[in-house]
Amino acid sequence: MADPSSRAGTRYSNPELLAWVDALHHPLDAALSRAFDAPAQGLPAIQVGRAEGALLGLLLRLQGARKVVELGTLAGFSALYIARALGPEGHLWTVEMNPLHARVARENIQLAGLSERVTVCEGAALERLPELEPHGPFDAVFLDADKGNYDRYGQWAARNLRPGGLLLGDNAYLFGDLLGDAPEASKMRRFHQELSNDFNAVCVPTPDGLVVAVKKS
Ligand code: MG
Repeated sequence: MADPSSRAGTRYSNPELLAWVDALHHPLDAALSRAFDAPAQGLPAIQVGRAEGALLGLLLRLQGARKVVELGTLAGFSALYIARALGPEGHLWTVEMNPLHARVARENIQLAGLSERVTVCEGAALERLPELEPHGPFDAVFLDADKGNYDRYGQWAARNLRPGGLLLGDNAYLFGDLLGDAPEASKMRRFHQELSNDFNAVCVPTPDGLVVAVKKS
């Protein structure tokens, strides 16, 4: 990021360029391909991008994460990147509200040979989260569930991450509506604002905006 155009948000990527970079740096093996191809399994195509999935895994490896919570499993694409980064001693608890999505995710995780490392918790995140607290404190929390509760998810993460723990939040631009009047927008803005109390945060300008924040000691 350097010149005024890029600072204003202009992107120099295009589909052909992205495909070349993805193929080189973010290759998909059979398990990742299956999870990424969620629409073929009857699911919406709303999973994180290939670069974001790979970035999650890379950040968790850098951190040496062992215990992670994910909100919003979908078909398990990001869960595969997370679980692989944790190693055999680690565990991921991933919460999914939609029973079909949860079933497809479990299948994809099983086909990847990661069932022992991942628990797919079915239900609304705000109802499931209290059950996970005894497993904490956690090394990282990844938010990718319903956007109208990000403020409450962020508060939960602040209470249940260890000092130095990572809070990662996809869709931090709220699909372009972050500064809008919708109730979801005010909740997402509160999520951003409250981060500054307990975290050192960066909002990485991925296409959707990705918050990467470290809990203060
Ligand atoms: Mg997302």
